[in-house]
Amino acid sequence: MTQGRYANIIIDISHEKVDRTFQYKIPKELEGKIEAGMCVQIPFGAGNRLRQGYVIEVTDQAEFPDEKQKEVAGIVTGSMPVETDAIKLAAWMKENYGSTMIAALKTVLPVKQTMKHKEKKKITRLLPVEETRSVLGECIRKHQAAKARVLTELCKEPVLPYELVTGRLNVTAATLKSLQNQGVISIESENYYRNPVKLETAREAGLVLSKEQADIRDNVLSDFDQGKRKAYLIHGITGSGKTEVYLSLIEGMIRRKKQCIMLIPEIALTYQTLLRFYKRFGDRVSVMNSTLSAGEKFDQWERARKGELDVIIGPRSALFVPFPDLGLIIMDEEHENSYKSETMPRYHARETARYLAKMKKATLVLGSATPSLEAYYGAKQGSYDLFTLNKRLTGGDLATVSIIDLRQELKSGNRSIFSRKLQELMEDRLQKKEQMILFLNRRGYAGFVSCRACGYVMKCPHCDVSLSQHIGGKLVCHYCGYEMRQPEKCPTCSSPYLLGFKAGTQQIEQQLYKRFPDIRVLRMDGDTTRTKDSYQKILSSFAEGEADVLVGTQMIVKGHDFPNVTLVGVLAADLSLNDNDYRAGERTFQLLTQAAGRAGRGRKPGVAVIQTYQPDHYSIIKAASQNYEDFYEEEILYRELGSYPPAAHMMAVLVTSAREERGEKLARQLTVLAKNFLKEGKAKASVIGPAKASIGKINDIYRFVMYCKAFDYGQLTSVKDKIEQYLETLVLKEENVQFDFDPVDSL
Ligand code: ADP
Ligand code: ZN
Ligand code: ZN
Repeated sequence: MTQGRYANIIIDISHEKVDRTFQYKIPKELEGKIEAGMCVQIPFGAGNRLRQGYVIEVTDQAEFPDEKQKEVAGIVTGSMPVETDAIKLAAWMKENYGSTMIAALKTVLPVKQTMKHKEKKKITRLLPVEETRSVLGECIRKHQAAKARVLTELCKEPVLPYELVTGRLNVTAATLKSLQNQGVISIESENYYRNPVKLETAREAGLVLSKEQADIRDNVLSDFDQGKRKAYLIHGITGSGKTEVYLSLIEGMIRRKKQCIMLIPEIALTYQTLLRFYKRFGDRVSVMNSTLSAGEKFDQWERARKGELDVIIGPRSALFVPFPDLGLIIMDEEHENSYKSETMPRYHARETARYLAKMKKATLVLGSATPSLEAYYGAKQGSYDLFTLNKRLTGGDLATVSIIDLRQELKSGNRSIFSRKLQELMEDRLQKKEQMILFLNRRGYAGFVSCRACGYVMKCPHCDVSLSQHIGGKLVCHYCGYEMRQPEKCPTCSSPYLLGFKAGTQQIEQQLYKRFPDIRVLRMDGDTTRTKDSYQKILSSFAEGEADVLVGTQMIVKGHDFPNVTLVGVLAADLSLNDNDYRAGERTFQLLTQAAGRAGRGRKPGVAVIQTYQPDHYSIIKAASQNYEDFYEEEILYRELGSYPPAAHMMAVLVTSAREERGEKLARQLTVLAKNFLKEGKAKASVIGPAKASIGKINDIYRFVMYCKAFDYGQLTSVKDKIEQYLETLVLKEENVQFDFDPVDSL
């Protein structure tokens, strides 16, 4: 219970502008009884009419003199528990991630929209399946890929939502019109509650679970029935049947009249996945994603609140859907960085789900083929029950992986970006008309510097992270600010080939055309996926065999199945290894494991070739042998030695300012403040920095960053509170301060 004499209250939280609180005095008889999230009665406006409001904060800081304060009239009991929970959640996020209450509230509450029942269109197949098939065959012969896509789906489902076809299937209105004119389909409008996906699909029962799968389901559900609300981690390779387990758990929950939140990273939220849920649970499933309009989002909230939904599927924001009786939160691919919010409050969906599950007395299930260090560490510590699934249920072996030492290639005179082995294999696949994926393990910011002869990477002497190359021949550490001139020669072998590594996908494409003149290449990177649909477009045209090779950055290795792909080449595995943050090893392992998993998903066996300058690095070796447990043991040692999460906790403080000197000065002040505070507490904690952030300037705003590390998370939130208090005493015009707890990316 928060002590304080004043309550800051929001009058109408479903209003578009939740950014205004009103302060009321807490009367003697209610002192100590009021806390954030409570619904209270307050006199409002000139006539002092009693209205309901929600307590956002209890504080001792008066906003205006006592004699002018109105008093809280009373506590409303048992009303609108959903709002109360949402406010509690927002308060928790504010406390644990650093944010204003308003920003936290805006994250957890929907913005109310005028309820206009939108008109929706649907596409209905007019011909019987056989005839549709023959039209489909014709389209394929005529290379009408888009028409073929719709018809393929219409052979399976008689009716499809219009948005789904134009969106996920990427078919233009003109194409649909033409099919309509051919008399193959009809396009009709329908008025209904805005459900973003409505499939009148035949319901399908689940598969008979394997013993391992059934064990998980039975364990989780029987714990639940005994009143044990726990958190579980399912470590299961891709294709081991995790999704089928999720479906059976959700089924169990629905039978118990509970609702479920199914979190899936947006990039993995494919049409096929959605269909699987719709087939199982029909109309009582809905989806949340970034393509929904604000109105559609609000409708999903309303439907959930009114008990019209059992399941919501979506990325991290789906956590905030207000179910009256939440039973289960599932988080698939829990290791994905997209679960961490990039704006204030920078919450992590995993931890937030944990808190929410506790608050709602719900069960939490995480799943991943390559669990985050956080989750696995949690499992080792006993805070998650661990289940393992290690067989692919549809047969198909894991790919054979070989590591190619690029230093040896250079030594034997091969200066191409393709090793000899990779070239041979590519030639072979071209002949066999099988497909390949070439993966450039890179995200596209500041390059590191390495020696092409021995693989040595220039690192910061204080931080064990690689130095970033800056213009003017400078090398900079983004953790502590250490700087040095780029040496002329490699410090270990004296080779002059000490170069920044910045090979791009475009360059690879050119090299491919040079080496294999007839090759058909599709490229997928930040440049080719600017527009909204281009991502799906590239994937579906590759799936339809319109190219031999898909070349791309990290976005191509996530969760897509291409049965005809039998070769995956990772061009320079070290690229992500040299990202300048402590998660580089983990990210590399995950990406390489995922990349290798792309090969041989169909009936033909797959091969993966990992080219690297660091063939001895444990992330690469363990990914090649696809041994997660071994990788974890090495990686956690490194985290423990460096006091990095999850062995300890870390808070990044980002100071931004349009004026460089002012930003830097404030960052220094905050660093001193944090150092003194942590010294006072005599804690085992440390403060590092300040330094220029890894992206030192964005849109002419300068960025500085400081890190605090501590074993106790609470210590970090105390530092945060201290900084917030200090900031309140300043008059800041240009500077802004943000917090990032246990960051997943360097700021
Ligand atoms: P994951 O989510 O771990 O990738 P899925 O649940 O998608 O795994 O299952 C992979 C494949 O195995 C799917 O094609 C699915 O239909 C099939 N599968 C899953 N469970 C079973 C089962 N008990 N019996 C037969 N096939 C199964
Ligand atoms: Zn450093
Ligand atoms: Zn060298």
